Amino acid sequence: MTELDYYEILEIERTSSQDEIKKAYRKMALKYHPDRNPDDKEAEEKFKLVNEAYQVLSDEQKRAVYDRYGKAGLEGQGFHGFEGQSYEDIMDDLSAIFESVFGGGFTGRRANRSSGEKYNLDLSAQMEISFKEAVFGAKKELKYRYKKPCEACKGTGAKDGEVKECEYCNGQGQVYMRQGFMTFAQTCPQCHGSGKVIREKCPKCSGRGYEEVETTITVDIPEGVDDGNRLRIPNAGNVAIDGRRGDLYITFYVEEDEHFVRHGDDIYLEVPVFFTQAVLGDVITIPTLRGEKELNLPQGAKDKQQFVFRGEGVRNVHSGQLGNLIAQIRIVYPKSLNDRQKELLRELQESFGIESKPHESMFESAFDKIKGWFKK
Ligand SMILES: [Zn+2]
Ligand SMILES: [Zn+2]
Repeated sequence: MTELDYYEILEIERTSSQDEIKKAYRKMALKYHPDRNPDDKEAEEKFKLVNEAYQVLSDEQKRAVYDRYGKAGLEGQGFHGFEGQSYEDIMDDLSAIFESVFGGGFTGRRANRSSGEKYNLDLSAQMEISFKEAVFGAKKELKYRYKKPCEACKGTGAKDGEVKECEYCNGQGQVYMRQGFMTFAQTCPQCHGSGKVIREKCPKCSGRGYEEVETTITVDIPEGVDDGNRLRIPNAGNVAIDGRRGDLYITFYVEEDEHFVRHGDDIYLEVPVFFTQAVLGDVITIPTLRGEKELNLPQGAKDKQQFVFRGEGVRNVHSGQLGNLIAQIRIVYPKSLNDRQKELLRELQESFGIESKPHESMFESAFDKIKGWFKK
């Protein structure tokens, strides 16, 4: 099997920053997330690879080893990918990563998984929303799948509910492995710790013990929700054998806007300004989230100068307070000049006299000083 390069998996450059790596991971993890690609083995494999790549590249130490020695170098340090691991185990491992990247958490899944349960009761889902939906809130439908016990076998996975003692571990649920002088206990791979295996698989659920139900709910997206924020919908998760139901956690993934850039509750807007406007000053109409505003450009405005419009930002999802709109100007120069324009500009420059050559007065003393340094 040819091994894919971690950078290729995340579709990034070898010189990518941690921010870029995180961004790429988030995009790919959402794309291949099994919740979005049910029963798609290829997507599941891709999802594993994407996570493996991120685990390595997001850790500068592991990344350095990988850059120099490749995957073999990491294996020498005890790192293994997700090969051969079950999806549920991987998701448990990934909860910390998801939490750091998507904000909010996927923790609690493990906590809400009582022993003997075949799956976590809490469920996570991702929801892509537009910039506008995030800023102003919206009602939007979300289609997702949850698990509930198979009715035919009452969740046991066994035909007619018949089980027998696991032969692999003699019903212990654990197996022991010797390594040198040490003995390690491991959860029995055959019965996954229950000590029991089924005689004959339930034909309805192929022995899984549960079925997946597709459902649609209307999500009330709160005004001001931000990328990575998480919303809990109680009692919308998986169903346990005893009828208890877990919660659904929705993580929002907000599309970027073409003009507005969001930082917390503040909105940044880049305003292109022609160099003559910057010199002379001008009044410019700019778009805001809720309409338009007039920006009073002063005479001699500087490149990247910022103008703050209080209360024109996003409403904080918790406090309800409004953020600001920050307009930052970008001075634009003409791409080319015709003869007439050159003539006008030269004339303009000359009219300023000594003021048009600021470097001369600035460096006069420096030139004298440097000459002094080299005099014998
Ligand atoms: Zn069944
Ligand atoms: Zn066993």
